[in-house]
Amino acid sequence: MATDTTIFGKIIRREVPADIVFEDEQLIAFRDIAPSAPVHVLFVPKTPIASLDAAQPAHAELLGRLMLAAAEYARTQGLAQDGYRVVVNCGPDAGQTVFQLHLHLLAGAPLGPFGKR
Ligand code: AMP
Repeated sequence: MATDTTIFGKIIRREVPADIVFEDEQLIAFRDIAPSAPVHVLFVPKTPIASLDAAQPAHAELLGRLMLAAAEYARTQGLAQDGYRVVVNCGPDAGQTVFQLHLHLLAGAPLGPFGKR
């Protein structure tokens, strides 16, 4: 399997520290180092996938697990009732900076309208 050489790959391999809040065989989740909301957690598959644009049909189950892990985390942290936002940045116009697919979970306060330029 290819090695994820991004900062997230280093976090997965424990080469770089992170505030890890969830991990299983296929996924890891940790707090964003520069949070955009009171709760800002990144959910990352351990399989190297550079972006959503690079995802393949073979990744369908993994992507489903990624979404469900975020929802489960939100539920268990008591965030689901007030609500939360899930974001995947893909490519330059979205401002993707780390080229290992990841999902942002944002919560803990009203987040305002989404998608304004
Ligand atoms: P994106 O713009 O979607 O690629 O998001 C990348 C996110 O990774 C940004 O919100 C960064 O703040 C976050 N980030 C970068 N390095 C680290 C790190 N070492 N630990 C936690 N989050 C990080």
